[in-house]
Formats: sequence, C-alpha cells, structure tokens
Amino acid sequence: MVFRLASTIQDPHAYNYWLEVCALLFLVCLLIRSIVDKKFVSKVNIIFGAAIVCGVIDVLLDVIAAVLVDHPDAVSERFNFFINGTFYFFQLTFPCLLYSFILYVASISTKTRRKMYFFFIPSGLYFLCLLTNPFTKWVFDINYANVGTENSILIHGPMFIWLYIVTFFYVALTTVTLIILNKKIEKQFQATMGFSLAFIVAMLAIQLLFPRYLLTGVAISFCCWINYEQLSTGDLKDRVSGVYNYNAFLNYAKSEIDFPRHRYLIICHVGNITKINSTFGFLTGNHVYKQIGNFLASFGNNFVFRISNSRFVIAFKDEEDMHRALLLIKAKFDHPWEVDGINFDITADGYYVKGDIGASNTTDYIEFISNLEYKVKKPNDETFVCVDQISIHKISRDKAIEKALRKAIDNDFEGFEMNYQPIYEITKNKFNHSEALIRFTHPELGKISPAEFIPIAEQCGLAQKIDRYVLRTTCEFLQKHPSIDFLDINISGAEFSSNPSKEFTRIVKSYGVSPKKFVIEVTETATIEYPEKLEKFMKDMIKEGFAFAIDDFGTGYSNISRILQTSFSIIKFDKTFLAANDTAEKILESMTSLLKNLKISIVIEGVETKEQYEHMKELGIEYIQGYYFSKPLNEQAYEKFMDKQEAVA
Ligand code: C2E
Ligand code: CA
Ligand code: CA
Repeated sequence: MVFRLASTIQDPHAYNYWLEVCALLFLVCLLIRSIVDKKFVSKVNIIFGAAIVCGVIDVLLDVIAAVLVDHPDAVSERFNFFINGTFYFFQLTFPCLLYSFILYVASISTKTRRKMYFFFIPSGLYFLCLLTNPFTKWVFDINYANVGTENSILIHGPMFIWLYIVTFFYVALTTVTLIILNKKIEKQFQATMGFSLAFIVAMLAIQLLFPRYLLTGVAISFCCWINYEQLSTGDLKDRVSGVYNYNAFLNYAKSEIDFPRHRYLIICHVGNITKINSTFGFLTGNHVYKQIGNFLASFGNNFVFRISNSRFVIAFKDEEDMHRALLLIKAKFDHPWEVDGINFDITADGYYVKGDIGASNTTDYIEFISNLEYKVKKPNDETFVCVDQISIHKISRDKAIEKALRKAIDNDFEGFEMNYQPIYEITKNKFNHSEALIRFTHPELGKISPAEFIPIAEQCGLAQKIDRYVLRTTCEFLQKHPSIDFLDINISGAEFSSNPSKEFTRIVKSYGVSPKKFVIEVTETATIEYPEKLEKFMKDMIKEGFAFAIDDFGTGYSNISRILQTSFSIIKFDKTFLAANDTAEKILESMTSLLKNLKISIVIEGVETKEQYEHMKELGIEYIQGYYFSKPLNEQAYEKFMDKQEAVA
C-alpha cells in the first residue's frame, strides 16, 4: 500500500496525478471485465471482487482528495474533510482484504480462520479512531485557515503514522501467512501473490523517495490485475475442449458448498474418442473434443467442466434447463458428428443429479461425482440415470457407514459381534452345525445389517479386514466349544483375487483349531465373477482341510455343470425355493436326487414356518436353516440354545 504523503509537500501543485488516473482507468476496466465474466460465487471471488471495488473507490478518492487539497476553494471545508476522511477509511480496507483473501485462498478451517481474525484488532483501532468524532483529528484534519499560507490544509495527527504501521503490518502478515500456509496454496498462486506483495513494497519505497508521485493506484491495480488473471485464467480452462478444467471444477465445488446455487448437474461420459485418436490421430481427436465442448457450452445458463479425459460436468441453476439440455445431448449424440469432413459415432451416457448433494467439503463433493458409477446402478436401457434426493441420501448413508466401519475397525473392531444360527439336520434330528453371521452396531447409526454394510466394505476395500476378524472370532468360538462339528463362515468374493489360503490356514492353526471345522460359504454370484481365481483358492484350501458351500444358490445364473465340477460339499438353496410353485418344487426335487448321488449336502435357507419345514422334509432336504428353529444368536444365547437341545435329547 502506498500513501500520498501530502503533509510533506510544501508546494500544493506538486502532486503528479497522471499515474493515478491511468491506474484508475485500468482498475475500472478490470472491474467491468470482472462483472461481465462468468464467475463462480465463491468466498475467494467475493473477497477479490470486494478488493477491486475498494481499490477503485480508494484510487478515485485519492485523486479527488489530492485535487481538493490542491484546490480548497472549489469546495467547502466540510466537504473536503468528508472526502479526505472517506479516502483514509478506504486506505486500510485494501490491505485488510488482501489478508482475508490469502486466508480464504488457503482454505483453512473456519475455526482457524476465526482465530486469525484476531489480527484485525490493529485496523479496528484505526477505524474506530477515524470514525469517532473528536478522535478523527488524531488521524487527520482539514484546516482552511491554512489557505494562502505555506502550510497545507491537510494536517496529520499522531495516529496517522498508525496507518503506515498497520499497512506494513498487513503486508508482512500476508507474506508470513503465504509462507506458513504454502502447502495449502497452489504454486502459481504463491508466485502471483508473492510478486504482488513485492511490487507493493517496491511502490511504497519509490513513493517514500519521490513523494510527489501518487503510486497507490499503480500498486493496487497491478496487484488486482495479476491476481485476477490467476483467478480467472490461471490454469482454469481446458485447452483442448475450451471449457473449464478440473482445477476450475475444484473452485466451483468450493463455491457450491459456500453458496449452493447450481443444484442440477449432468455428468456426461463421452465414448469412442480413444478409438478416434488411435485411428485418425490426436489432432482430429482434439477437434472432436473442441466441438463437444462448444456444443455443451451452447445451452446457456450453465457451467461446463471437463473433469477427466472423457467426463464432462454441466451445472445448471434451473431444473428445466437441465432437462432441456439432456434432451439436446441425447438427440445430438444419436447422430454422427461431422469433424474435419469425417463422420464419427460418439456415445454419451452418464447421470443427472437433482438436488442438494449435501457435501460439507470439496473432497466429499468431488468424491460424490467421481463415485457415481460405483454407487448408482445403471440399467442397460438408459443412457442417463437420474440421481434424485433418495439416491443422494443412500450415497451419503453409504459414506457414513464407510466412515463408521473404518473407525470401528481401527478401534479394534468396536461394535462388531458374531452371531450363530443353528442349522438342523433332519435325519439325525439335531443341530449339528451353524452359520456364523456378523453384526455391527454403531453408536449413532444403530444396528446395521450385514446385507447393507458388507457390500460397502467390499467396495471400499475393508472386506478383507472383516473376513480376518470373522476368522479369528470364529476360531476363538470353536476353541471354546470343541463339541461343535463344523461352522459355516461367509467370505467376501473380494478375497479370491489375492488367494489368501496360506494366511487363512496359518490363522486357523495358530488357534489350534482344525481347518476341517470350517465350511466356507461362497455366494453364487462370486462364483460367476471370479471363476478361475476361486477355483485355485478352493483347491489350495481344500488341500488344507477346509470345505466349501455355495451360498444363495438360485439367485445367480451360474452354469450348473460347472458348479458341479467344482468341489463344493454343500449347496445352500436360497429362500426363493420355498415359494410353493411348481417350478421351484420341480427344480428342488430333481436337484435333490442329483446332488445326493454326487454326495453334496443340501441346506435350505429361510425356513420360517412348520408348513415350509414339513414340505422340505417331504422333498428329502437334509439341512434346514431358518427362523422356524432359531434366529441367529449371540454367543451366550447360542450356548443356552444348545444346552436346551441337549436336555431335550
Ligand atoms: P446369507 O449368507 O444368505 O445369510 C443368511 C441370512 O438370512 C442372514 O441374514 C440370516 O439372518 C437370514 N435368515 C436366516 N433365517 C431366516 C429366515 O427364516 N427368514 C429370513 N427372512 N431370513 C433368515 P443376515 O445375518 O442379515 O446376513 C445377510 C447377509 O450378509 C448374509 O446372507 C451374507 O451374505 C452377509 N453376511 C453376514 N455375515 C457375514 C460375514 O461374516 N461375512 C461376510 N462376508 N458376509 C456376511
Ligand atoms: Ca451365508
Ligand atoms: Ca444365503
């Protein structure tokens, strides 16, 4: 910040305004440009906008005040006083905004930022003094009695020096903050900001040496200009497609969190361009992207971002605008694109989001957008899938569960527990084994079903940890209950790719438990997804003594002959086979005799009533699992249940 050192100048006509007037014109142009340019309403942009406005007012007042000090006869003493007072007010707002700006650019937490506001106390003192009547004179005064004398009508009070000190203080503070928070600020931004500060200091030094030149405006306008370039074009445009890039999307996400405005998004994935690149070359590929960028930006009232190679995000304020754009996109991509005289078939698919994403920080916002394809199922016949408030809610619940799982796992599996559901063997009239089923209770989310949290754990790479917990806990359980013949455990399909057979065997043996006591349940879907890897895993495990069951049989579309070739000892029929219809019955009947011949045991799951039980018995099923006999029980309840059975026998 640079000052007009009026009191040091004896010749009232000595001010050199022309630099200040040029700077003012420049700043006004920059202000107009910033109004016309489409900008995200982020806190950084708001503070920056405020800095430009303050800059314009400050420089304008600087010129006017200097003229009025030079020509006191033109206006009344009061008016002159008012103009100079307003000028001195705006002198300190710019350095204050500069400091706030750097705090927002570094996006530090609101709590830390509030603490940093402590540094506004020195400027507060100055403003207080300037704005409260008798004390204003401590800063400056206008005295028309000096007209015609050698003295300037502008008199500086003892607090005037405070303006210098505080301005220097903010320049220094901004520099120190820039250095301390350098990891949180982009390199380019650091460079621009550092350069701005150095320029301000240089201008200040020149002004001190040559007080007749007014350089406030030069310093402000240069500082605003290079930061404006940094904010608007500083690596925000994608050079290929011409739309905003991922960096801009980060800024946009930040602004949406502060001021949610664009609640309607289209996330559009364009396909086939890799093929165009490899067949016709990158230049043609780039032309295709350029056309796509132009097309997507043509709807108006929207922001377009290219956030990855083939993914665009288009943000709208208005739902109708989004639907209209969606129709246009579908229609446009239905036909070939003509680029460089060649027709290209380009596909477009994705999602459209209606509603508040509810992200509290940029990472959550970006994660929401990037994870949509994993989180939202896409029907084959739809090119764009709607992500409404219900799906958003489900995604955020999944996220909360993921967080809860991570925390619980890190806290030594706090909230996890194993339950055991006895399985009844009809011919022997006893419960000879049971299935271990995991339970998870969270202090805030309550009881969460494994049907809900296991798929989440699989998606976020936590399933393996859970499997090991299951293995260790069931080993302890079997250690305590040596009379149990064997136990079924469920293992996630995510395991098979790494073949943990050696590790599993080592864990089981470390508890002194025989691998023969374990039946590993693998879902039918997993057998379809990882056929070769599963086969290898099973082979290694069976060698060690483990047995395998195929779970939820009848829910997938597995190749029956392939399954029969694989070494499953048990097939667990899904409860859908309990439905009293001819097809289910016929399949069960024929499968029962076939599997018996192959010495594969059959378990039917989900038997809840006496009728169902009788019916299964008639069909010759060996094992019954279901609420009819018992729900899954915790360890104590399981012990009680088994004691009671023994007593009955
Ligand atoms: P699943 O392996 O098919 O387990 C059987 C599910 O059916 C259990 O649900 C059980 O409580 C339930 N069930 C048992 N009898 C009846 C009945 O008569 N009627 C009805 N309606 N349901 C019955 P649960 O415990 O909620 O588990 C759901 C799924 O979560 C399991 O299906 C399994 O796929 C998965 N899961 C459970 N525990 C584990 C585990 O330790 N590891 C892994 N990887 N997955 C697990
Ligand atoms: Ca199971
Ligand atoms: Ca099952």
